[in-house]
Amino acid sequence: MTATESLYLPSPVIHPYATLGGPLQRLSRGLARYVVTKRVHARNDRPLVSFTFDDIPDTAFIHGARVLEDRGARGTFYIAGGLCGTIETDRRLIDASDCVELHRRSHEIGCHTFSHPVVQTLDADVFASELDRNKEFFASLMPDLALENFCYPYGIASLPRKLQVQARFQSCRGSRAGINAGVIDLGMLRAVPIDYKTDAAMIVRAVDETVRSNGWLIFFTHDVAPDPTWIGCTPQLLDGAIATALRSGCEVVTIHEGLRRIGSQGSD
Ligand SMILES: [Zn+2]
Repeated sequence: MTATESLYLPSPVIHPYATLGGPLQRLSRGLARYVVTKRVHARNDRPLVSFTFDDIPDTAFIHGARVLEDRGARGTFYIAGGLCGTIETDRRLIDASDCVELHRRSHEIGCHTFSHPVVQTLDADVFASELDRNKEFFASLMPDLALENFCYPYGIASLPRKLQVQARFQSCRGSRAGINAGVIDLGMLRAVPIDYKTDAAMIVRAVDETVRSNGWLIFFTHDVAPDPTWIGCTPQLLDGAIATALRSGCEVVTIHEGLRRIGSQGSD
């Protein structure tokens, strides 16, 4: 465990999928998480910070996108097309027209599968059809949109599914806490949550470590609301994180731009 990971663990909430399956499944999930399978040596000139949003609750569109734009920045929104327009117990997911609006405002849209399954439970064909279906969903909305980057639902995968998906996307983001620096695994980028247990001091520590290591810090959250769920944050906390990153000399970039800065594919 790195120093950065220890900042964020242990979480008092054990995700139900973290205990999925028997010993072999746990081994495969661990290999996916810890074995570098898509290696790149980062050559960024300046420390980088990205803000990413998963699923996406409509408050991330309403507040999250605006907070970034007010600071002259853009985010990456990992969207599962099958969730678009749905209403859950404690959140409403953005609809198709909101996706188009995000793209029009120069935010990046990434793939989060179509129906948000636990990737590890899928065989290769079913997983491929999940990815195809999401691609078709967005192609029908925005023919010019390229889904270049992927995020694992629940942050987990088996090693075979990781190898499968990393071949289709320029990067895949997980939820293993830490800063991407030096040799980076584009098959499962590390990320740091902004959620119910995050405060301004934790954000400052993570940004400071990013500056020290000239790394790439990828934050992730879900809803952005005055009264957020446990996996979301307030607009104020998000704005403070962006301000901290900028004040510390970091460049705030989308995942697409971050890949360009580290010298990986994705340049244009
Ligand atoms: Zn998700």
